[in-house]
Amino acid sequence: MPQPSARLVLATRNPGKLRELRELLRGQVPGLDVDTQVIDAAAAGAPDVAETGVTFEENALLKAHAVAAATGLPAVADDSGLAVDVLGGAPGIFSARWSGRHGDDAANLDLLLAQLADIPAGHRGAAFVCAAALALPDGGETVERGELRGTLLPAPRGTGGFGYDPILQPSGLTASCAELSSGEKNAISHRGQAFRALLPALVAALADGTPGVS
Ligand code: IMP
Repeated sequence: MPQPSARLVLATRNPGKLRELRELLRGQVPGLDVDTQVIDAAAAGAPDVAETGVTFEENALLKAHAVAAATGLPAVADDSGLAVDVLGGAPGIFSARWSGRHGDDAANLDLLLAQLADIPAGHRGAAFVCAAALALPDGGETVERGELRGTLLPAPRGTGGFGYDPILQPSGLTASCAELSSGEKNAISHRGQAFRALLPALVAALADGTPGVS
C-alpha cells in the first residue's frame, strides 16, 4: 500500500527518473508536495510488470495501468530505447537486452557497433525514443512520445550517462550524449520531451483533486 498522502506513482525503480518527474512537476500543481506525494513503484508497493507489448507506447501503457490498478493512484510509466534507421528501428523495444543479457549495457553497445561496422557516417542516423504514459485508476489514459535524433559514432565517446549514450551524437552537437552533463541531456532528451508533453494531463489529473489513498 502506498503511504497515505501519496498522489502519483512512477512505475520505475530508477531514482534518476523519479528525480526528473519530481522536478518537472515542482510548482505546477497547487498543494502538491512532489518530494513526498510523488513516489516510485517500490515506495508504493507496486509489482514489477513484464514488458510484453510490441511498441514503446504499449509497454508504457501496460506498466502504467498495472501500477494504477495495484495502488489505486494515478500512475506514470515510460519505455524507451534506441531506434537505428538502417536496422528498421531496431534494437527498439529490445534495446536493454539486444545482446541477450538484460541490462548489459557494454555488451549491447559492442554488438550494435559490430553490426554497423560497415555503415558509413551518412547512413548512421538513429534516435532515442521514449513513450511516457499516464493511467488513472478509473481506466483513463494519455500517452506521449519524445525523440532525440542524432548520428551513431564509430566508437564510444565519453564516460557519463548509461546505455547507448557514448555512441549517440545528437543532431547539431559535437558531443556524444555521454559527454553531456545530466542537465544538458535532460533538456533535450527523448524522456524529457515525453514527460514534458505529458505535463498537461498530469496537472489535470492531480488538480482534479485526485484523492490520496487513506
Ligand atoms: P528503459 O526504458 O529504461 O527500460 O530503457 C531501455 C534501454 O534503452 C536501456 O537499457 C538503454 O539500453 C536504452 N536507453 C533508453 N534511454 C536511453 C538513454 O537516454 N541513453 C542511453 N540508452 C538509453
